[in-house]
Amino acid sequence: MSTLMEPIDSMKPSRELSLWETLDYIAKVLREGAVEECVEVDGGVVRGGLGVYWALRRLGARYAPTGGECRAPLEELGYYHDFAGAPGRVYSSGVDLLVRGLPTPMVMLRSYSRGGLRVWAKLEWFNPFSLSVKDKAAYYIVEGLRASGGVGGRVLGDASSSNFGVALAGVSAYYGARAKVYLPANAEDFGRIIPRLMGASVVETDVESTVRLLPRVIRDSSRGEFVHANQFMNDRNFEAHLRYTAKEIDYQARVAGLKLSGVAGSIGTSGHMAAVNFYFKSRMGPGFPVILAQPTGEESIPGIRRAETGMIWLSLIAQGYSLYDVSLEESLEAVMRVARVDGLAVSPSGGAALAALERHLEEQGIEGDVVVVVPDTGFKYLALISKALK
Ligand code: PLP
Repeated sequence: MSTLMEPIDSMKPSRELSLWETLDYIAKVLREGAVEECVEVDGGVVRGGLGVYWALRRLGARYAPTGGECRAPLEELGYYHDFAGAPGRVYSSGVDLLVRGLPTPMVMLRSYSRGGLRVWAKLEWFNPFSLSVKDKAAYYIVEGLRASGGVGGRVLGDASSSNFGVALAGVSAYYGARAKVYLPANAEDFGRIIPRLMGASVVETDVESTVRLLPRVIRDSSRGEFVHANQFMNDRNFEAHLRYTAKEIDYQARVAGLKLSGVAGSIGTSGHMAAVNFYFKSRMGPGFPVILAQPTGEESIPGIRRAETGMIWLSLIAQGYSLYDVSLEESLEAVMRVARVDGLAVSPSGGAALAALERHLEEQGIEGDVVVVVPDTGFKYLALISKALK
């Protein structure tokens, strides 16, 4: 007997399970690489198997098993259809390019590969709005708001170190909404200018860190001035990276026949690396190395911060990662090393991830294929990079 499958889009859930209620189901599906339970559908409404339904939906599968043997490997459930691409890379909009342009490319770095180790940089600056990893979070958060009442004509606000504000402004512009972006004192020039170019309003402050802006953002949004996108707490940030960034790496490793032996990255909200950590610890086992960079106590590295400043997904979901303190100098040295050998200009946060990986390699050593998530391009950080050249 084979398994009957139906499109997930054709089913309506009888109720919503939160991300937190679904995590165990997601972990099980990833661990087994298959679903071993049916979703019970009655008149188009999901009555039973809600956990599996929400796990598959959050992971972006196209089909769910609904009868017969009730067992199907993920591939047969259209799990990787998110990455089917667009013929000729022709898109109907920036949002279409963002979503159907995935996965973002992965490039082998000669500067870090040696012996039995190959290091791959996943280039998140190939996202179209902010040229950074934050497009996925902004898009997914706005999609969530669209599903619960629409965003047209509304104002969507948030605090941002720079990239999320640009991404929110770009996605909002496309959907006929307006963004309102609160920036800390150390925001980048592009973070001040590009959101305004995209029709957003920008609140420039002298507050020294993005998280410290949150009380003001929460106060203004509670007065009804705008809808708070809330990249720091909105689970759609984490979910975007579970469905995209993490699944992309999984898909790319399969297609390229990589022997995936670790993933490295850096942390701001922790959205992308907490999701990557959860995904691969579930899929490959708890011993799978996930290497994270945080800035040393004294210094700031654009877009990232220390874990202890509070990151909901890193502290409540992610486990067993290796966290390294990286100085700004080490980050910029890594940026320079890649630039001089591979000819690619990565962001300081990407340099931080590479520096953390180097430290891990010195301590533990890894062979096989390691993916480093590079959140952004170095082209946006000219003042910092030119200082390092002196
Ligand atoms: N690197 C840069 C340049 C960023 O702008 C950000 C986030 O704003 C990050 C890294 C960290 O990403 P996340 O918020 O997903 O932890």
